[in-house]
Amino acid sequence: MKRLQDFKEEIHKCSKCGICQSECPIYKITGNDCTVSRGQFVMLNGVVKGDLKMSKVINRYLDLCLKCGKCSKVCPSGVDVVDVIVTAKYEYFRKHFTEKLSAFIKKYFIFGFIPRFESLFKRNAKSKTFGKKVLYFGGCSSKFRTDKAVIKLLNEAEMEVINPVFHCCGIPLFAMGDLDGFKDQMKKYINILKKYDIKEVVTTCTSCEKTIKSYIKWVDDEDKEFLSGITVKNIFEYLRDKKLKLKTPRKVTYHKPCSLENWEDVEQVLKNTENLEYVEMKGFDKCCGLNGLDKFNEYKILKEIYKEKRKNIVETGAEIVLSSCLGCDTALKLYSSGKYKVDDLTEFLGNNI
Ligand code: SF4
Ligand code: SF4
Repeated sequence: MKRLQDFKEEIHKCSKCGICQSECPIYKITGNDCTVSRGQFVMLNGVVKGDLKMSKVINRYLDLCLKCGKCSKVCPSGVDVVDVIVTAKYEYFRKHFTEKLSAFIKKYFIFGFIPRFESLFKRNAKSKTFGKKVLYFGGCSSKFRTDKAVIKLLNEAEMEVINPVFHCCGIPLFAMGDLDGFKDQMKKYINILKKYDIKEVVTTCTSCEKTIKSYIKWVDDEDKEFLSGITVKNIFEYLRDKKLKLKTPRKVTYHKPCSLENWEDVEQVLKNTENLEYVEMKGFDKCCGLNGLDKFNEYKILKEIYKEKRKNIVETGAEIVLSSCLGCDTALKLYSSGKYKVDDLTEFLGNNI
C-alpha cells in the first residue's frame, strides 16, 4: 500500500488555481477552502514536509470529502485527488484506535448485521430464465428493497437475473480510510462472481456502482486483473430504451446522487415512462450531505443542506421524490418532516408498472 510521502509530487502538482471549487459539492455548501482539494493539498503539503501533523482537525476536513472525483475531472494539473485523500485517511486510520473501533462497528454490526438479519425474514426473489444473464449486486440493505423490482424490470427486458445474497460494497470503510477492510469486502464480491462464473453485473445503488467500478485500483493486483474483466452497469442503462408505463398517473421529482454517472439514462427513463410526470427540482444535483457528513458534529452544515433541499422538493409540487442511492434515500427521509414521500426509482417503477 502506498504512503502519503509517495504522493509528494502529486501534491506539488496542484497550482492552487481553485478551479476545483466550481465542481466540489461540499465546497458549494461550506465555502471553506479546507473542504476542497486546493485547501486540503495545502494542509497535506505541510504534512509531507513535516511542518504539520496529520491531526484530528485535518482528518475532519478529509472526512468531509465525498471521494466523488468531480474536482479531478476539471483539474488542469491532472491531480488524482481521491488517491491522495484516501491515502492520507489510511495513514490516520492506521494510527488511531477510535477510527478502528468505528470501522469495526460499521463492518460487523451495521453493514454486516443488517443483511444477515433481513435474510432471516425475507427470501431472495427468483428470476425467470432467459439466454442473457446478469448478476444483481444489491449491496447491504438495498438488497431486500429492490430485488423484486430489479427482476421484474429486467425479466421484461428478457434478461435473467442471478440474485445472490450480497454484503456491503465497502464504501463506508473506503471513505474512512480502512483500506484493508475495503479489500476484504471486495474479496467477498469476487468470490460470488467466481461462484456464478458471470461477467456482467447490474446495480441499482449508485454508490455501490461507483465503488465496484471505480475503486478497484485499491485491491490486490490479482483481484484487480479479475475485476477488470467484469462489466458493471446501472439498471437504467438497460431500461433507457424500454417503453415503460405506470398503472396510474404519478407526479414525481428526482434527487441526483453525486455518485450517479449516467444521468442521461435516468433522465431518459423519467421522461419516457408513460403516466409519469417528472418535474425537475431546483438544485436536483446538489449533494444530500449524508456521504461526506455522516457525523453528528457536522449538524450545522447538514441543517443548511436539509433546509434548502426540503424547500426545493416541496416547490415542485411532486408527491414523491425519487433517487437511486441508499445514502441519499436515507438523508431525504430524515429531513422530509412528513412533507413528501421518498422512494428508490427502481423500486418505484417495479411497484407501479
Ligand atoms: S483544480 Fe487541481 S490544480 Fe487547481 S487548485 Fe484544485 S486540485 Fe489544485
Ligand atoms: S473528491 Fe468530490 S468532495 Fe472531494 S474535494 Fe473533490 S469534488 Fe470535493
